Amino acid sequence: MTLSHGALLYEGKAKRVYAVDQDDRVLVEYKNDATAFNALKREQIEDKGRLNCQISARLFEVLERDGIPTHYLGLVDETWMAVQKVEVIPLEVVLRNVATGSLCKQTPIAPGTSLEPALLDLYYKDDAFGDPLLTEARLELLQLVTAEQRVAIERLARHVNAALVPFFRSLDLQLVDFKLELGCNTAGELVVADEISPDTCRLWDLRTTDPQERILDKDRFRQDLGGVIEAYGEVCKRVQGACPNPRNCG
Ligand code: UDP
Repeated sequence: MTLSHGALLYEGKAKRVYAVDQDDRVLVEYKNDATAFNALKREQIEDKGRLNCQISARLFEVLERDGIPTHYLGLVDETWMAVQKVEVIPLEVVLRNVATGSLCKQTPIAPGTSLEPALLDLYYKDDAFGDPLLTEARLELLQLVTAEQRVAIERLARHVNAALVPFFRSLDLQLVDFKLELGCNTAGELVVADEISPDTCRLWDLRTTDPQERILDKDRFRQDLGGVIEAYGEVCKRVQGACPNPRNCG
């Protein structure tokens, strides 16, 4: 494939970011690498990059239709996306609609408890520290964001949840929880960045009640349940059914 891009600006666990001619945009290449537990568990999963790229593009368009600003500009290729250049805020914003995962490991809240309103947790995005959960006081101490940005981040994250829950519900998928990364674009606007995919969302299939079979996200990889790519493929199939023609930016 010949795809014109400039220098590699950044390589993360699941994506590479490349410069292009325009200063206010970059290209993102979705990789097949799967990692979990702060990259202690690693594997290559054939076709994961393409599926996450295709799913993410459509989910960004779902957000856009709801008036939510995102960094997404359009698809360039099967595994490549054009996005606005942003300065990523070093926070992982996690929204939880159903209690599971770390929440149930760290607290006595029973798995499966419905959380209304959704619980919003902020983590400090830094692998060297193991992405620790932040308190409001630590957030203030670290001065990662202003008080106004803090309010805007929460409002944006809750808006994303309010848009995605019914969208997934219409596909017989339950959005259990998800992680967002936000950034500031060159115009200074706060936008949803990174990706939204089964790597970053827990999605349960409402077409089955089997507690393992219903898992259609990275927990299949984390828990060695097998069928990882089949699960991502099923999510992609349903999302593509609802959004057949994503914008092309090629
Ligand atoms: N998550 C993520 N990246 C991270 C940590 C969490 O995308 O570095 C997502 C995860 O897929 C889930 C949600 O955030 O959808 C909440 O994860 P949790 O805190 O329960 O952590 P885990 O159980 O995955 O350790």
